[in-house]
Amino acid sequence: MDEIRIENLEVYGAHGVLAGETRNGQMFMINAVLKTKLRPAGLADDLSLSTHYGHVCQFMNRYLREHTFLLIEAAAEHLAGEVLLRFPLVHSIVLELKKPHAPIGLPFSSVSVKIERGWEKAYLGIGSNMGDKQNFLDTAVRKLKKNPRIKDVRCSGFISTAPYGGVEQDDFLNGAIELQTLLPPYELLEFLHQLEGEAGRERNVRWGPRTLDLDILFYGDLVSGDSVLTLPHPDMANREFVLKPLDELCPWQYNPVNGKTVRQMLRELEEKPYIDTPVKSSY
Ligand code: ATP
Ligand code: CA
Ligand code: CA
Repeated sequence: MDEIRIENLEVYGAHGVLAGETRNGQMFMINAVLKTKLRPAGLADDLSLSTHYGHVCQFMNRYLREHTFLLIEAAAEHLAGEVLLRFPLVHSIVLELKKPHAPIGLPFSSVSVKIERGWEKAYLGIGSNMGDKQNFLDTAVRKLKKNPRIKDVRCSGFISTAPYGGVEQDDFLNGAIELQTLLPPYELLEFLHQLEGEAGRERNVRWGPRTLDLDILFYGDLVSGDSVLTLPHPDMANREFVLKPLDELCPWQYNPVNGKTVRQMLRELEEKPYIDTPVKSSY
């Protein structure tokens, strides 16, 4: 992706763990690389199609003056998040915050932290088979849209499906969701668990009835074998109720673990003979 680069921007702030640092303040320096698409502005020669680097500099200066942090780690983390929220054309930012006058008591030119943060595309599976299912799904989508760290939410149609996993229970209403998020994978999962909790979800029986189930199907092209968060979702290739709505949103999305697109997984599943009791797959 293209870049707007800001080098050694000098700002003043009162960040530090020592009383003198918060009392007197000191100079900090910022290096920022804003990853964004520059071609539209380049072709049209039109600033409104780009991110105004002057505004970004002024914003960062103001933010670090108006907020106080003990650590440059915290200052950088919050500042990067705020820039991404404030300037929507910026896809990600590499931010280095330097503290050239840190109280170290030895000769040095600077200390700094450097972080990279950005928007990532994720796909979710959503399902309910208790109570007012449609309402549980609609409420969850509304709450996803309300989270400032989630944007561009697109929802598939909902389909009604017979229950999966051999437990006697009501039919499911299932769908898929596309979104962009600033939340890293585990924080996104935590937020989904929070929404499940708010819908009164109780975890009793594996694959049992639930008011709301939110799974992460894909998080960018991330592959993770961790049992707390397995990515892509390990059982998607066996689930028509996952692949059908997903196919509406992203038929060409590639599963890096089995090397197949969503459309391919769906076609292969539709051609398979019906199997009554699914086996939980794992990588
Ligand atoms: P399945 O994951 O087979 O659809 P389930 O949704 O019924 O089953 P839950 O009881 O909702 O299972 O979740 C059990 C645990 O699975 C969660 O606490 C979570 O830590 C873990 N998990 C692992 N990978 C994922 C993922 N990609 N999305 C959501 N949860 C996941
Ligand atoms: Ca599930
Ligand atoms: Ca789940």
